[in-house]
Amino acid sequence: MKRIAEGIYLLESCGFVNAYLLEGTQDMTLVDAGPAKTADALLDELKDNGFSFKDVQRAVITHAHADHCGALTALMAKHRFKVYAHPKDIPALTGKAPRAPGGLKSFCMGFFHEPLQPWEPIDVALPVEPGQPVRGLPQWQILHLPGHTEGSLGLYHPTRQVLLCGDALSNRGGRLHLPAQSYLKDAAAARSTLESLAKMDCDVLACGHGPLIRGGAFRFIGKLLQS
Ligand SMILES: [Zn+2]
Ligand SMILES: [Zn+2]
Repeated sequence: MKRIAEGIYLLESCGFVNAYLLEGTQDMTLVDAGPAKTADALLDELKDNGFSFKDVQRAVITHAHADHCGALTALMAKHRFKVYAHPKDIPALTGKAPRAPGGLKSFCMGFFHEPLQPWEPIDVALPVEPGQPVRGLPQWQILHLPGHTEGSLGLYHPTRQVLLCGDALSNRGGRLHLPAQSYLKDAAAARSTLESLAKMDCDVLACGHGPLIRGGAFRFIGKLLQS
C-alpha cells in the first residue's frame, strides 16, 4: 500500500491493476476492486496495513471491466458494501449487458481475456453522476470520462489536486497514454475526455494501470493532448 496524500492510498495487491482506498472520518471507500483472482490479496493488504475490511462501506467502480470490478462478488461475500457506478456501465456490471467493449476486435479480445479473468456480475449497483456527491466522500467530485467505456468515471479531490482517472488514461513505459484503440468504445469521446482533463488542476494523477504521476501531473496530460 502506498500513501498518496492524507486519507488516499494506492492498493498494490491487484496485479497489473491499481485500486485505491479513501479513508473518511466514519468509514472507507474502495475505488475499484481489482480482478477476481486478487480479492484475497486485497483483503490481506488491508489487514497488513492495519485497516479493517468491515470499515469499507462502499466501492466506486470506474468502469465495468473485469480487471477493475471482478473482485466485487468475492469481496461482498465476506462483507456487504454499496457499489456505485455510472448508469451507462451499470448494465454490464450487473450482467444485464455484454461486458466486452463492443466491435468484433473487442469481442475477440473479450473472448480471450474473460477466461483469464472470470468474474460474476453483482446483483445491484447504485448510479452516480457528476454533480452528485457520494455519501461518505464529501470532498470528492465525480467526473464522467467516457471513451474507454460509455460510463467511465473518475474522482477528483480539488483541495489535494488528486485525480483518480480509471482507464481514461494509463501510465505505461514512463509515458501517459490514451487507451489502446482496441480498448476504445468511442475514440472521439476519449479525445474530449482528454481535453477536459487537461483543463484541470491536477498535481497527482492516479491511473487504473501504471505508476502514479506526482507533482504537476497536469503537464503530462497537456503533453499527451498536444501529441
Ligand atoms: Zn478498462
Ligand atoms: Zn483496466
